Amino acid sequence: MIILAADVGGTTCKLGVMNEALEILHKWEIPTNKEEEGRHILRNIHESFARNARLKGYSMEDVKGTGLGIPGPIDFDNGVVNGAINLNWHGRKNIREAYEQLSGKPVFVDNDANVASLGEQVRGAGRGSKDVVCITLGTGVGGGIISNHELVHGYNGSGGELGHFKVDFKERFQCNCGHKGCLETVASATGVVNLAHYYYKELRFSTLIEDDLEAGTLQAKQVFDAAKAGDEFALYIIRKVSNYIAYALSVISVMTNPEYIIIGGGVSKAGDFLIDHIEERYQEMTFSPAAEGTKIVTAQLGNDAGMIGAAALIKQYVK
Ligand SMILES: [Zn+2]
Repeated sequence: MIILAADVGGTTCKLGVMNEALEILHKWEIPTNKEEEGRHILRNIHESFARNARLKGYSMEDVKGTGLGIPGPIDFDNGVVNGAINLNWHGRKNIREAYEQLSGKPVFVDNDANVASLGEQVRGAGRGSKDVVCITLGTGVGGGIISNHELVHGYNGSGGELGHFKVDFKERFQCNCGHKGCLETVASATGVVNLAHYYYKELRFSTLIEDDLEAGTLQAKQVFDAAKAGDEFALYIIRKVSNYIAYALSVISVMTNPEYIIIGGGVSKAGDFLIDHIEERYQEMTFSPAAEGTKIVTAQLGNDAGMIGAAALIKQYVK
């Protein structure tokens, strides 16, 4: 049996064909056609899979099911997406039903951050551990919580929305969600820049990143590079960022006590440098029995995490 999976994004859909061990047999990308309220997206995915089956000589009869990762809030039990702005989808759509009609096989749908987390848990940095938390530090901050092998969805599907965890009680920066002080406002790529501007004004440090701060062209990567080069101001910012992340992780740790905390996304490219700072604060802050043996690691699967996790839903739920 084979499993099909699609990680549907605003620009491209990443498609994968996997065996039941979730090893990738084929993978490719197709552009996401957002025209006419994104009504062609699912059919394009289905047709691309059918074409691949003809080309590679496998039968759609051997397909166990299709897993879909979608960038929007999901009612997991019913496969209903409540709007996905990046796909030009508005209102509630039953994606499971729509794709099952196309493919004639079982379908499971989850949010893109959740499937990426599940991918890392089953085949990546989580090494199959039953209790894993993933946090993605990119343009925004996303995440997923896996407790006893299952993704936590919660009552409204908002379980694991780690970006909107309030950590800045001074509420200095506005979040896209409408609130102020969310983790995303101080720990995403934009968040790192937010903090750099804030403290540069307040503390008047002299720093290697002065010109970009003055010109308003600063990017998160420059703050990390300067910190690695020993710049005091940049180090101060990275300690602040790490502190907020560690605080969020310490609270999650007394809730689900993960064995692995996986850090992914563009900001995580700072690698051990960032992890070491987070780890140090995390160990100081966290209830000791909840932190004991917990490993903070970087994500391993890159762009494949989402499709592997989407396929894992089929492996897990289709018997
Ligand atoms: Zn928020």
